[in-house]
Amino acid sequence: MDFSFTEEQRLLRDSVRKLLQKHAPPEYVRKHDRERTYPEELFAACAEAGLLALPFPEEYGGAGGSLLDMTIVAEEIARVSADLVMAYTGNIFCGLNLVRMATEEQKRYWLPKLIKGEIKFSISMSEPDAGSDIGAMRTTAVRDGNEWVIEGRKIWASMAGAKDNVINLYVKTDPKAHYRQGLSLFLVDNDTPGLSLRKLDMLGRRSTGTYELTFDKVRVAPDRLVGGENKGWDVVMSGLQVERASSAAGNVGAAQGVVDLAVRYAKERKQFGRPIGANQAIAHMLADMATEVEAARTLMWRAAWMVSTGQDALREITMAKLFTSETYVKIASQGMQVLGGFGYSAEFDMERHFRDSRAATIAAGTSQIQRNLIANLMGLKVQ
Ligand SMILES: Cc1cc2nc3c(=O)[nH]c(=O)nc-3n(C[C@H](O)[C@H](O)[C@H](O)COP(=O)(O)OP(=O)(O)OC[C@H]3O[C@@H](n4cnc5c(N)ncnc54)[C@H](O)[C@@H]3O)c2cc1C
Repeated sequence: MDFSFTEEQRLLRDSVRKLLQKHAPPEYVRKHDRERTYPEELFAACAEAGLLALPFPEEYGGAGGSLLDMTIVAEEIARVSADLVMAYTGNIFCGLNLVRMATEEQKRYWLPKLIKGEIKFSISMSEPDAGSDIGAMRTTAVRDGNEWVIEGRKIWASMAGAKDNVINLYVKTDPKAHYRQGLSLFLVDNDTPGLSLRKLDMLGRRSTGTYELTFDKVRVAPDRLVGGENKGWDVVMSGLQVERASSAAGNVGAAQGVVDLAVRYAKERKQFGRPIGANQAIAHMLADMATEVEAARTLMWRAAWMVSTGQDALREITMAKLFTSETYVKIASQGMQVLGGFGYSAEFDMERHFRDSRAATIAAGTSQIQRNLIANLMGLKVQ
């Protein structure tokens, strides 16, 4: 058993830290959160540094690395912001779906653009009446001559409004079939005629943004269909473990960011003539926080390693998504307690963690849905 990073992985982590110090200092993160603007400069810097290329095959312009490389980068970016990390991981897990499921022509067209940062990918499945219950989806794509015509409404699509974003859109192409046989994936430019976007006013993740999408007879060409007609669920399932690995890595990094802030503050802040961290009540809370983040990290790394070595890690990666997300929520709340009134102030970063963390147990499948899946894998028949 070897838990250590390779020399290349250590260098990767250190170079990402340097990149973040330069391109995403605290004021940059605060500004984009406050102004609700997409972190274009950071995204461009990640593309320029080749970080988007890491897990993609070399024949499409990638670096031929593994999923572990992505999790190293994700953890570091999330340490700075649980919101900004989405601008990295969202592109990668959508792009890896194409590696597995797209035609050769589609891969050669889309992947080099994605890797160079010329386009971005977002994912849109959820609808007002179809959240955990994806089968209730009503948005459809219907063939008309040589094109597909999309009608319906989507909600909670993260990053869909960013410049040059291509929405990875799941719709029903056979509304009568069970959703596992009736969904398809289309790549839709976010400026396609007939598509309107509304940025939603959310508690957190304000920089990358969350959108409502309305499709009014949106026409797309047949080469925008990925994975084949009615094969959308196969695409979702093929990418599920990668998606959960990326969100688990983000949760771990963000929770570590909270511990870093809280420990620093506990050493500096003095009350009753001594640092607050000299009080056992605070010191023990920080020790527990650090321990829980370490436990979350170990669970995440093992699951990500299993995925990256081609093992079926559905159980482990689902546990990692569940545990890391709940850890981030808990740690962010405790971090706020350590900072007292300064934690509650929007002028300090803890308040952003408190807001951003709340999405972790909802987005990419709620904690309840993760528990259902784990219980079902244990042979329990949860409805
Ligand atoms: C910040 C943010 C970003 C998001 N980004 C995206 C995105 O990019 N693309 C996208 O498609 N979607 C996105 N989502 C949507 C997200 O995937 C859904 O919110 C999530 O799947 C839950 O669906 P829902 O909100 O409709 O809640 P519901 O499904 O209505 O659930 C409400 C509550 O009931 C519980 N519940 C529901 N069914 C069961 C059950 N069978 N057993 C036990 N409990 C159950 C849930 O756990 C939850 O607590 C995002 C959401 C957020 C908050």
